[in-house]
Amino acid sequence: MITITKVLQNVYVLKDRAGCCGNLVVGKDRALLFDTGSGIDNMKEALRRITELPLIVVNSHGHFDHIGGNCQFEHVYLPKLDFPILENYDTKMLNRWIRDMSKENIWTYLASPKDWECIHPLEFEDFDLGGMECRIISLKGHTEGSIGIWIPSLKLLLSGDALTPVMCLNFQNHLSSQAQYETLVQVQELEFDVYLTSHQSMLYPKSLTRRMMKCIESSRGRKFHFYQYPYPPYTNGWIYLDSLEDEPVALIISEEEKEKM
Ligand SMILES: [Zn+2]
Repeated sequence: MITITKVLQNVYVLKDRAGCCGNLVVGKDRALLFDTGSGIDNMKEALRRITELPLIVVNSHGHFDHIGGNCQFEHVYLPKLDFPILENYDTKMLNRWIRDMSKENIWTYLASPKDWECIHPLEFEDFDLGGMECRIISLKGHTEGSIGIWIPSLKLLLSGDALTPVMCLNFQNHLSSQAQYETLVQVQELEFDVYLTSHQSMLYPKSLTRRMMKCIESSRGRKFHFYQYPYPPYTNGWIYLDSLEDEPVALIISEEEKEKM
């Protein structure tokens, strides 16, 4: 079952049972779905309760919990730089991961590489939903291909996993904390008040991205602690926790980056 939260006029978060979200933005002529969740629930059916408009479906990056529902749609755009991630997934592993994430005994998910025939490389920089301009913004760090969608008229940025306050730079196709820092610097130039991530149904204030910058700055030369990510893909990493006020802000780096320190 998908939980629907209206966060702004014409903007909805659709969260599936595995805790993965799609962001739905409804314009006058078209609607945007940003990420399709884990695939455990029917994202398309849920969004059709909100809008009947033609859709443009875009993935924020190539991780399995953002592309799992892609096969419910005819045409989905994925950033080109994240295509290599797809090659490492197989049906059995994905099914196990989705089951672990949802904590439900569900085996109906049938992800297989053939489900991804609907995925096409994202080769445009902006599009219009009808009176609502949307711009693709590179947010590399969490993965090399990670993108966000900036909607100036709403002063809103959709960010996938790229601006999650616990910055995970230890999963497939990730970059360094320096790359993440540069992305955060660039984000300061964009005019937006709030942003959405892909695992929470709430809006974050832009000011949180400043705290994330500060976290990376303070982490330099500090002690990181070993960290085993408790959910799929269970990757190890090293964590530096910067602050706990309101929203915890932390940085998780890879083994390989830790060794270089
Ligand atoms: Zn991710």
